[in-house]
Amino acid sequence: MKRIALISTGGTIEKTYDAASGGLANREAVLDVMLANLDLRGVRVSRIALMNKDSLDMTPDDHALIAATVHHALRDHDGVVVVHGTDRLTVSGEAVLARLLHEEALTKPVIFTGSMRPYELRDTDAPQNLTEALLAVQILAPGVYVAMQNQVLAFPGVTKDRAQGMFVRA
Ligand code: ASP
Repeated sequence: MKRIALISTGGTIEKTYDAASGGLANREAVLDVMLANLDLRGVRVSRIALMNKDSLDMTPDDHALIAATVHHALRDHDGVVVVHGTDRLTVSGEAVLARLLHEEALTKPVIFTGSMRPYELRDTDAPQNLTEALLAVQILAPGVYVAMQNQVLAFPGVTKDRAQGMFVRA
């Protein structure tokens, strides 16, 4: 059994419709619903619901907390998946890489993922991206990556191409 830590931080993937405001908001833990629908034989997933924020609202402390939580989770797991908003995903990715390199703890794979459209929407890319991340964490070499939209990119040097709505290498 591979032990995978799944850290959720929010982002579009976790946005749900808020009837009071008439908009999408980060309020509920939708990852548990997604996980319940996946066939994850051979892995044991530990859920760490760290925060539920649009990543545009994250502070430097939030990025540091994500890095510290990944570092801690790697001690008793075979890999870590971080679900994150795509706008500041690369900030957290670089923070995790810097921390793990500094602590000489880059011994396992860490995979960031998210989605361009909320899980709640019919044309969501969320299940595809989460599935890709959960597979990537089992087979990739130690490193920090983003896996979604049928591609895997290794940090450092990943950026979000807003025009194309995807991650690219700088
Ligand atoms: N603004 C959102 C965020 O970064 C966009 C996304 O999740 O893709 O949380």
